[in-house]
Formats: sequence, structure tokens, C-alpha cells
Amino acid sequence: MAKKKFKAESKRLLDLMINSVYTHKEIFLRELISNASDAIDKIYYKALTDESIGFDRNDYYIRVEIDRDNRLLKVSDTGIGMTKEELEDNLGVIARSGSLTFKQENEMKEGVDIIGQFGVGFYSAFMVAERVTVISRAFGAEGAFKWESDGSDGYTVTPCEKDGVGTDVMLRIKQSAGEENYDEFLEEHRIRAIIKKYSDFVRYPIRMNVTTSRPKEGEEDGYETVVEEQTVNSMVPIWRKNKNELSEDDYENFYSEKRYGFDKPLRHIHISVDGAVRYNAILFIPQHIPFDYYTKEYEKGLELYSNGVLIMQKCPELLPDHFSFVKGMVDSEDLSLNISREMLQHDRQLRLIAKNVRHKIKNELASMLEKDRETYEKFFEAFGRQLKFGVYAEFGSNKEELRDLLLFRSSAKEKPVTLKEYVLRMQEGQKYIYYAAGESVDRISKMPQTELVAEKGYEILYFTEDVDEFAIKMLSDYDGKEFRSVSGRDLGIETEEKPEKDGDDEEIFEKMKEILADRVKDVRASARLRHHPVCLTNEGELSIEMEKVLGAMPDGQRVKAEKVLEINTEHEMFETLKDAFKNDGEKFRLYTGLLYGQALLIEGLPLEDPVEFANGICRLMTG
Ligand code: ADP
Repeated sequence: MAKKKFKAESKRLLDLMINSVYTHKEIFLRELISNASDAIDKIYYKALTDESIGFDRNDYYIRVEIDRDNRLLKVSDTGIGMTKEELEDNLGVIARSGSLTFKQENEMKEGVDIIGQFGVGFYSAFMVAERVTVISRAFGAEGAFKWESDGSDGYTVTPCEKDGVGTDVMLRIKQSAGEENYDEFLEEHRIRAIIKKYSDFVRYPIRMNVTTSRPKEGEEDGYETVVEEQTVNSMVPIWRKNKNELSEDDYENFYSEKRYGFDKPLRHIHISVDGAVRYNAILFIPQHIPFDYYTKEYEKGLELYSNGVLIMQKCPELLPDHFSFVKGMVDSEDLSLNISREMLQHDRQLRLIAKNVRHKIKNELASMLEKDRETYEKFFEAFGRQLKFGVYAEFGSNKEELRDLLLFRSSAKEKPVTLKEYVLRMQEGQKYIYYAAGESVDRISKMPQTELVAEKGYEILYFTEDVDEFAIKMLSDYDGKEFRSVSGRDLGIETEEKPEKDGDDEEIFEKMKEILADRVKDVRASARLRHHPVCLTNEGELSIEMEKVLGAMPDGQRVKAEKVLEINTEHEMFETLKDAFKNDGEKFRLYTGLLYGQALLIEGLPLEDPVEFANGICRLMTG
């Protein structure tokens, strides 16, 4: 019988597939099993709805067989089967369903990766097989037909014998050559593992001969090897089970079985939605930060199933960046199995699911914060930074969603506080939310700039992470209350005694400013200092902490905050300074340098010239 040619586009895809260097060739099995499962779905439905067909659940199964000697791997099903025409139409052409548009083919040429993300169906068999034979008998048909192809230039269809309705797909596995190992697809344990990995939750039993050894009867230490047919998939997915049937253990097992993490999950979220969009999901919040979490290597995403069949291992579209720590899976019957990544991004169903998932995560976190503060604090310790990034990212477009999930340490409590709690506790007459940024809680609590605000009895949020101040700038206010840095120009405290401008003092500050040149924007009398002699504050939007953060970035943005040296004119040091100004220009210069250096050190900034500073102190000692 003459060979029929593949359609042109099918041929192109085949070539790609056969020559693919793709490492996840194993997915061919998922494709074949999922086709088998679909075929059983069809006949199963017929049997369920047509009484003339005898119905026995045991009749519906998939069988996987390995024949090592002949290098054959066979996937059989008792599904609806294919007629001669269907064999030609379905297996001779690709993209009937439009699942493979020209665009995607181009994509495939660039990165063959796409094969791993999506089923390209039956053709993936040619990644591992040098010849594929399909024997099928359609429901209601008399005879059976055999479709056969070596993938290169066409296929044949011939009549043949087959008992019972259904389809057998036989792959003649390629010889291993060089780096390419195909022998693994003839190994029982490997095939079993692949089934477990991708098709565990297929609704029908996947049967396979499994070799086990067990104690030999009548012999004490003797073992015998037995080969038994077993169902190797678990069939009922945990996400389709009722929540009350499941224990915490079940979720934890699932978490480890799926290798979502090596820790125990902190929390799980089990979702079943049946509305405009239908899906089931099990999501986890991990306990520990994955080692690569805060690096670019980390890939966010959830597993995506279409009706129990895994179609994508990491679907990034399902999670916003600020919830990228969430692990888990989504299963929806509204998604097509062969949808491409390209199309998925624009898929309305998927977008609805993503939106819903995001909402659920947010609510779960909010309820954890409210009802289980201790666990939430643990969570926040691990992933809070990501939420703060979320506030800051995308020009603050997610800030509303996230602001009530934030926690900060503060001057009031050992434990972190929320912004809501802060605002509730605000003192009468307090107009702003105060914060101070620094390296550690300990350091911040000693900052001279906090003196006045602390004396007022106002709570101060302690920002110890580089992202804090950026996030808060993005928020700009909470509940109508603006944020104010204790180091900013105006503290907005009404009773703040603005030090009277003293003409003589002004002259001193002018001179100091001249000595310090462009290192400070201004020198002035301080209203915020109580016991400390000096401090640095900033004018403008960019704070000294922000300058540090930006300066530490790899692309080294050398931006400078506008620094102001504030002098406590009530401090006795000021008398000495005044004295020097009048009588000893050299001393005055020395004092100015030392006061500035001191302010830098308190601020956690490096001295520009440590040797000069040290020598200055010596000069002070030796009079
Ligand atoms: P898809 O599954 O996306 O349609 P495939 O290339 O995997 O793409 O399969 C093409 C078609 O061949 C299927 O839609 C189905 O009609 C038919 N088919 C494949 N495998 C089987 C099978 N085991 N039993 C019955 N029909 C099958």
C-alpha cells in the first residue's frame, strides 16, 4: 500500500520533534495517556447514557506494557477507538484544533522548550520512537485498522485484527546514541515514575506489570520475584476530595510528594470554585524561604491541570509577583489541554482563575494576620519583604491590596505592628505616622533624630529593611495620615519650638557651611535634638537611608541625599564652639570637622577621611 504523505505543517512539526534536543522527552507518555483517557471519557459517557451498552466500570482502563527485548512500549486503552478515516484525519494532521498555529511553530524553532510546557499530542511519541504503530477498533465498527509511520515521510493505514474496542499505541523505542539515552523508556521503574509524575490523577486505572520481591512461602530467608498487574496511579486527585475528608497530614504529604518544598508548609488553602469560572486548587505558603527565593533564578508559578491532566509545571500567569512564594496547583475543566503558552496568557478563563486565586491568597493572609498572629509573624519574617516590594513595584498599583498585610517593628512594642494598629494608637494631636530608618532596631532606637518625637510619646515605626522607605514613599499615607521621617525637614509637630534665629548663631552656621563646603546643604539650629549635640537630617525626597540603599546596588546609582547638619544650640558643646568661633579660627575648623564626622558615624555613614578624623581627636586631646 502506498504511503500517504503528512500534511506540510505536520511534517515541519515532526522534524522539530524528532530532532529536538529537548530534555523532557518523557512527556510523550503523558500525551498518550491523556489521549487514552479522553477516548475512555467518550465511550464512558456513551455507556452511561445509553442503556443498550452494557456497563461495567472495570471495562475502562489504560494499560502500559514494556517489551524490552523488542524495544517496544505499548499504551492501550478501552476507549472509543478510531475508524480508518479517523486514523487518517486525526493522526495525519496536526493542529486540527488550531492548537498549533504558525506563530507557535516559529516559537518552537526558537526554543523547543515549549514542548515541555504543552502537549503537542500524539506526535511527541516521535521524540522517543523510531516507529509508531496504532491499532484501533472504533466503537460500533466491524474491523480494526493499523496506522503506522516512522515519522519521516508519511504513514500507511491497513486493515488488521483486534479484539475489543479501543486503541493500542505501540512505540518502537529509539536506540540510545551518545548523549541521548532512550533505554530508560524501557525500564519499568522509570515508566512508573513518569506515570506517577504526570498522570497520577487520571480518572481511570493505569495498569502495568510490576515486579516485586516478597518473602517466599515456607522459606525463612528466601525471597521470590513476582510480576503482578497493578494500578499505578492514585486516580482520585486530592483537590477533588472534600475538605473535611482530608487531614493536615494529607496536605503535607501532597506538598512533599509534589516536591513543592522540602520544609513543611506553614499553611494550605484548598479552593473549589464553581461559578463563572470553575476550578479546584490547593495552594501552600511555605514555612521557609527557598534558598534561591530572592534571586533571579527563582521562578514563580503554579502547576496547571486541565481536568486532572498536568499541562504545565509552572504557570507564572497564575501568581502576581508579590505572592510568588505560593506553591501549589490549579485544576480546571475549562482549560484546553493543548493550549499554548502564548494563548494561555490571553486566555480569559485563566485570567479569571488568576484573579480569583490572588484574591483567595490575600484573604487567607489577612485572616491569618487576624486570627493567628504568631504564624503570620513567622510568615512575614520569611516573605514580608516580598510584600513590601509588591507595594513599591508597578508604580504602586498593588498598594491597596497589600498595605494591611504589612508589619513593622516600632518604638512601642517588642512585637511588630500593622499600620492600622499604629493609627488606632495615635496620640491626640498627632498628625503624622513617624518612622525612622536604620540598620537595626537597636541602632534606630538610639538615633538622636528620634528624640523630640519620642519625647512627645509618639510611636515611631522602625525601618530596618532597604525596601521599607521606598514602599512607604509609594504609600504616601495610611488612612489619610501622612508618613513623616524623623530625619526629614519638617516633623509637623505643632508645639515644636522653632529655635529663635539668633544673628550671631547664624554667622557661626554660615562659617561651618563654608568649611564643610558641598558636603552639606545647610547647617542649622536643631528643633528635634534634646540631649545629643548634632545629627544629620535631609531635605527633599531622598533620605540618607535611601542614598545608602541606592549606593549599594550593583549598578551603583551614586545619588546623594541633601544633608543638613543640625546643631543642638542648648548643648554645652555649643558654648565651646561659639568661643572658638570668636577666638580661634583653627580650633573652630577642627570642631566643625569633628562634629560633622560624628554625625556621619551616628548615621551609619562612612567617614570621608578617617585618618583626618582620628588625628583631629588627638589634636583635641593634646590641646
Ligand atoms: P489532541 O489530543 O490535542 O486532539 P493528538 O495529536 O494527541 O491531539 O490527537 C489527535 C486526535 O487523535 C485526538 O483528538 C483524538 O481524536 C485522536 N486520538 C488520539 N489518540 C487516541 C486514542 N487513544 N483513542 C482514540 N482517539 C485518539
